[in-house]
Amino acid sequence: MISSKTSFIALIGNPVSHSLSPIMQNAALQYLGLDLIYIAIPCKDQDLELVLNSFKKINCKGLNITIPHKEKVFDLCSEISPIANQLKAINTLKLNSEKEWSGTNTDVEGFIYPLKTLNLVKKKSMVLGSGGAARSVIQGLINLNLSTISVVSRNKTSLNKLIKNFENQIKIKGFLNNDNQAQNLIEEADLIVNTTPVGMNSSKYAMNILPYGETFWRSLKSKTIVYDLIYNPSPSPLLKFSVKKGCFTIDGMQMLVAQGMKSLSFWTNGLEVPFQVMNDALKTYL
Ligand code: NAP
Repeated sequence: MISSKTSFIALIGNPVSHSLSPIMQNAALQYLGLDLIYIAIPCKDQDLELVLNSFKKINCKGLNITIPHKEKVFDLCSEISPIANQLKAINTLKLNSEKEWSGTNTDVEGFIYPLKTLNLVKKKSMVLGSGGAARSVIQGLINLNLSTISVVSRNKTSLNKLIKNFENQIKIKGFLNNDNQAQNLIEEADLIVNTTPVGMNSSKYAMNILPYGETFWRSLKSKTIVYDLIYNPSPSPLLKFSVKKGCFTIDGMQMLVAQGMKSLSFWTNGLEVPFQVMNDALKTYL
């Protein structure tokens, strides 16, 4: 029940109306019996500083930060975790003992969560796409000690930037999607992660298509694990295709829930948060 003692956690971004975070976070807060609610608040660029400073004064227990504020919020934090610094993006904030914002990023932990029970040490991986999510994915693969990462993208500029950022940490190489070597890479990969939005349920992207087209996938083997960051539809067209090829697949909803679970754990100083409760709430909602 919401009472005069109830406090709040908020998602700040623009837009936020599509976000699934309120669904899964409120399910978890209710399950844990915490006197907290989670709401999504749209905030324009020019209002970010005012909003964050105001929230310091009114019993806000934490924030999620989404597009377009993930980088801008750095200037408004007095503490930043090493992983947020590494990714150059913050998605979670809480107030420290001096009532100043402390920022972190839970995307890498979220990405790794469904992979933790699989032994991927020294295995070969392939990442499709070179945008924001690819950075978290690559950092996660480095943390899991994979042997090589091949990144395939249609965008030469962002691809080169991404490779440069990580080349000191792991054997990583970039390829354009029409490169002839792509077939060999697919055939050899133990894990393929799609970070492009192709196949996503949106007016912008055609449904039932695979990243880089169907012929790109012709040498996919059943030994390969296919992880798609897309969570709507669930399963995505790529995962449906991969199941038919006999592959083990991982759905983007697992990452979505796990990064939310890690944020809630950060706000509550390490409380164990129920993955299944959050996951079930989303499955019922979608
Ligand atoms: P982003 O920064 O816009 O990057 C998207 C990447 O995909 C870019 O390299 C982009 O290339 C490429 N791309 C876009 N359209 C393409 C197309 N038609 N064909 C081939 N490549 C294309 O986006 P993001 O933040 O990385 O997010 C990417 C996807 O991951 C989205 O679907 C998002 O919902 C999902 N995601 C899921 C989670 C989760 O928790 N499950 C977390 C984060 C992101 P260009 O630069 O050339 O456009």
